[in-house]
Amino acid sequence: MSIQHVPENLPKRIQHFIGGEFVDSLDGDTFEVLDPVSNQTYLEASAGKQADIDRAVAVAHQAFEEGPWPGMLPRERARILNRIADIVETRNERLAELETFDTGLPITQALGQAKRAAENFRFFADLIVAQADDTYKVPGKQINYVNRKPKGVAGLITPWNTPFMLESWKLAPALASGCTVVLKPAEFTPLSAGLWPEIFREAGVPDGVFNIVHGYGEQAGDALVKHENVRLISFTGESATGSLIFANAAPTLKGLSMELGGKSPAVVFADADLDAAIDSTVFGVFSLNGERCTAGSRILVERGVYDEFVRRYVERAKNIKVGDPHDPATEIGALVHPEHYAKVTEYIEIGKTEATLAAGGGRPAGSESGNYVQPTVFVDVPPTARIFQEEIFGPVVAITPFDTDEEALRLANDVKYGLAAYVWTTNLERAHNFGQRVDAGMVWLNSHNVRDLRTPFGGVKASGLGHEGGYRSLDFYSDQQAMHISLAPAHTPKFGA
Ligand code: NAD
Repeated sequence: MSIQHVPENLPKRIQHFIGGEFVDSLDGDTFEVLDPVSNQTYLEASAGKQADIDRAVAVAHQAFEEGPWPGMLPRERARILNRIADIVETRNERLAELETFDTGLPITQALGQAKRAAENFRFFADLIVAQADDTYKVPGKQINYVNRKPKGVAGLITPWNTPFMLESWKLAPALASGCTVVLKPAEFTPLSAGLWPEIFREAGVPDGVFNIVHGYGEQAGDALVKHENVRLISFTGESATGSLIFANAAPTLKGLSMELGGKSPAVVFADADLDAAIDSTVFGVFSLNGERCTAGSRILVERGVYDEFVRRYVERAKNIKVGDPHDPATEIGALVHPEHYAKVTEYIEIGKTEATLAAGGGRPAGSESGNYVQPTVFVDVPPTARIFQEEIFGPVVAITPFDTDEEALRLANDVKYGLAAYVWTTNLERAHNFGQRVDAGMVWLNSHNVRDLRTPFGGVKASGLGHEGGYRSLDFYSDQQAMHISLAPAHTPKFGA
């Protein structure tokens, strides 16, 4: 685990990208970026502040007011978006090695992120070309139609897990809608965002339409949220940060899309296909290092199969290969940052006082450095436990037995979050009835998180507000102006006549 793979041609530093140029912060300030295997600083990134955000928003605002982008025919914009998708796919290997180096994601899971990012651009390119807006007839009196227009400058604030792919999830609909953007990537993982400028330039995105300001959330992110010329914020991150952004956006009345944290249940009934349920629930929490918003991190198992499920699950967890993120055999790499490592391992210590530790429980043998954590399984976890209630965002799972459907539902809904849920049963009626009653924005029956880009994406309760996905994303980035046309004189009361 001590061998450190460093990608060739790493940039010397990471700068903002504003108006088609790479620039330093106006005050020259930088912050250090670590890699999660050595935990050493491998480069400095520009630390954006209010002045840098002002500069980027001014450029984006000008590109919106004067530039061709918002007024282009959908087909023209779609062509550019499709070119972006094609170019993104050609960067798959480079993206994977950068992402693996910067985030600690296993290389086999980082490969393929470019395809997912490209799909986001292709999907929204198709959608804007096929877009039809509503028209309403009032026979003999009026025709009313919707004039859809891009909102303006969009502020995009993204987290450190699968950073490039999550950036694409916001960039694609924002640009497809005709908005101009300022992206503030996560400070833990700014490396892969550096691929966008060249991709966009090559695809023909005009300068000023796409801008990046790096920096800390409390500085660059905060200034973006509070800027009066930013019409909306699409945010993905922790629920607590989401609440703060909500409050900070209030004085400038911004549109807000909030994709927040989760503590999603996977509910396994005794009639489930246990082989498939075990494969899926192991993958559902331990893939992406467990740093996954939709992780099924609470597994509720019906008593009749509980012992067998736990025995087999624990066996599998103990077999998972933790190690060098660049090794193709690795299934769990290094957690993103020592601060996050400290948080996850603290939860593991808390868990040891709250439930029975059945697998893992700390650093794997032989790893003296790097943010490595064993896949950790707690069983017989009471719903009052903090490891049942709070998002850990690492390779840690809580397993709890239940006796009846009602009890399973109570347990599933007994947390503040409501992002995803997974239901395992071969009983069709139960699958639908139970799934529909779970407090979750997204439910998968007999599956883990397999996305259909047309469906709503987002959470309920503390997991988010405002669902994106399909046309919902375009609606978020657009104003829908109502245009009313009279076909006959309107009745007008004659005041003062
Ligand atoms: P975070 O909330 O700490 O940071 C997210 C982003 O917000 C970063 O770019 C950060 O710099 C910025 N930020 C922080 N404070 C800010 C402020 N005051 N104003 C403006 N911006 C600010 O989250 P994280 O630790 O980077 O990401 C992990 C979290 O993201 C987890 O809770 C996870 O569940 C969530 N997540 C949710 C989804 C989803 O779709 N629901 C997807 C991925 C991750």
